[in-house]
Amino acid sequence: MPDYSAPLADMRFVLENIVDLAALAALPGYEHAAPDMVHGVLEESGRLFAQEFAPLNRVGDTQHSRRQADGSVTTPEGFARAYRRYVEAGWAGVSFPAEYGGGGFPWLVSIAMQEMMTAANMAFSLCPLLTQGAIDMLLHYGSEAQREIYLPRMVTGEWTGTMNLTEPQAGSDVGALTTKAVLADDGTWRITGQKIFITYGEHDLAGNIVHLVLARVPDAPPGTRGISCFIVPKFLVDDDGTLGERNRVECVSIEQKMGINASPTCVMAYDGAVGYLIGEPNQGMRYMFKMMNNARLSVGVSGLALGERAYQQAVAYAHERRQGRAPGAPAGGSSPIVDHPDVRRMLLTMRAHIEALRCLAYLNAESFDLAARHPDEDVRTWRQELADLLTPITKAWGTDLGNELTSLAVQVHGGMGYIEETGVAQHYRDIRIAAIYEGTNGIQAIDLVGRKLPMRAGGVIGDFLAGIADTAAELAKEGGDLAAIGAHLADAQATLKSTTDWLLANVADTDNALAGATPYLRMCGIVTGGWLLARSAQAAQRLLDEGEGDADFLRQKLVTARFYAEQLLPQAAGLVPAVTAGPADLLAATF
Ligand SMILES: Cc1cc2nc3c(=O)[nH]c(=O)nc-3n(C[C@H](O)[C@H](O)[C@H](O)COP(=O)(O)OP(=O)(O)OC[C@H]3O[C@@H](n4cnc5c(N)ncnc54)[C@H](O)[C@@H]3O)c2cc1C
Repeated sequence: MPDYSAPLADMRFVLENIVDLAALAALPGYEHAAPDMVHGVLEESGRLFAQEFAPLNRVGDTQHSRRQADGSVTTPEGFARAYRRYVEAGWAGVSFPAEYGGGGFPWLVSIAMQEMMTAANMAFSLCPLLTQGAIDMLLHYGSEAQREIYLPRMVTGEWTGTMNLTEPQAGSDVGALTTKAVLADDGTWRITGQKIFITYGEHDLAGNIVHLVLARVPDAPPGTRGISCFIVPKFLVDDDGTLGERNRVECVSIEQKMGINASPTCVMAYDGAVGYLIGEPNQGMRYMFKMMNNARLSVGVSGLALGERAYQQAVAYAHERRQGRAPGAPAGGSSPIVDHPDVRRMLLTMRAHIEALRCLAYLNAESFDLAARHPDEDVRTWRQELADLLTPITKAWGTDLGNELTSLAVQVHGGMGYIEETGVAQHYRDIRIAAIYEGTNGIQAIDLVGRKLPMRAGGVIGDFLAGIADTAAELAKEGGDLAAIGAHLADAQATLKSTTDWLLANVADTDNALAGATPYLRMCGIVTGGWLLARSAQAAQRLLDEGEGDADFLRQKLVTARFYAEQLLPQAAGLVPAVTAGPADLLAATF
């Protein structure tokens, strides 16, 4: 029995009611991405992920990727075949430009596909994900010649890509990196240094690996101002794209990790490797910053994805496992644990968060698309601001929840959840890293408070909060469940607004801002989730009133939104003291 099925009905609901897929498809350049076509793509790719990738998840966890004595890396059994199927189906380049062999679909479609691929097999999904980051970099900053050589092969998935930032002494502080780049007589560069934790730095899935490497040129300014970005292919590439000699880069070891065991996390040694500068020297960090939003959104989606997969397993187990007698059950027999209120609380908590996260991630992706393509400049500007504001929230709240939801799924399984054979513990181990890489969640919180709140002197967060207040006001005019949801949303909005005002007034005091950043980001996540589920409820009620759609599905939307509004949303207020306390206690503590 497959233990993952793509949640297509809910994805469709979000695509039609929280974001506007039809309006996106009407934009110039997206004409071929009509909603029916998109739903077809999602259905078909979802089938591949569920049937081919999901069964390999446990295989990958137990077999791991292995480094061989000659430095090559062998991925687990079945991975190479699954990757071939993925490439042949054309899914690798769905959202990249058609001129390089891509599908030219909105980024939103890619994000929906990524949700399914990651849920099916997170360790596998990282290879395409890192490749996407590298493609994005080349699309934006590569020279025409570089784009011509690399992009057609990377967009189709024939070659993969990596991102090489981290070094032993340079993690969150990327500016501390010391890898060197020296100009050679022929105008290319020689790269020397060691990178650690490089995802899919070496593997057997594709014909070439295009490493994007951050390094310092001679006399570069210190810190992040002196970082340049280079293309370092595993095999050198002729002007016509044919593969030449092996470059002087190798994987010297693979890390043993607590999860995503199939993803080779490599220590890479560059020993005078031939590199090609991207753009201008010393601009590498600026280029990376541009790319980070997409990568951070994708990592946030992994929290949603593994939450969803673990939830599906938890629901199935809760129906199967019988223990004790649930309230109201006939005497003499045992009840399935799904009938116990506490188990229902765990399941509904998972479902409510998953639905909120899906709305958030898709809204974030739609904002990227509208920022890039909408004909109206005001819309483009606002959506770029919104994407900038939402991205750290999607990344950090999404992956924090990924950790919490997979933990809840283990809890629903009781002792069996702790037993590896059950499979649910793997999701809990796998997702743990997502709160750490692509900028730790602490760094995301600092980004939110330090860079995003001050955008337009607080105007961006102000407009965002005004939008939430508008939804609450609309709901107040309705009766029944919607009005009740609206009242909770209005309270939570007021809490977030006053806390935001406090932070904005105190953000100049760096200690205050840094001390309260993480609880503030969580508060933003909780309230944004409440807003989006309130809008889900609004849409569900409208469809019910119009007699459209699956009535059971829509009524469940109302139940989920009401539960979130009444029982999860009020948690935002509990975070106020942690945001506004300032650093005194933290600094007084000795460790
Ligand atoms: C499985 C895996 C895959 C990875 N893949 C890649 C990859 O493909 N490419 C790549 O380049 N890197 C990769 N990384 C590296 C990853 O991005 C880093 O681990 C991450 O950026 C954190 O850096 P660090 O490990 O040095 O932690 P540190 O920077 O040492 O952080 C330790 C703790 O201190 C906190 N901290 C650090 N600085 C600050 C600060 N200024 N203010 C407040 N708190 C702070 C952090 O939030 C964290 O909690 C990967 C790592 C792993 C484990």
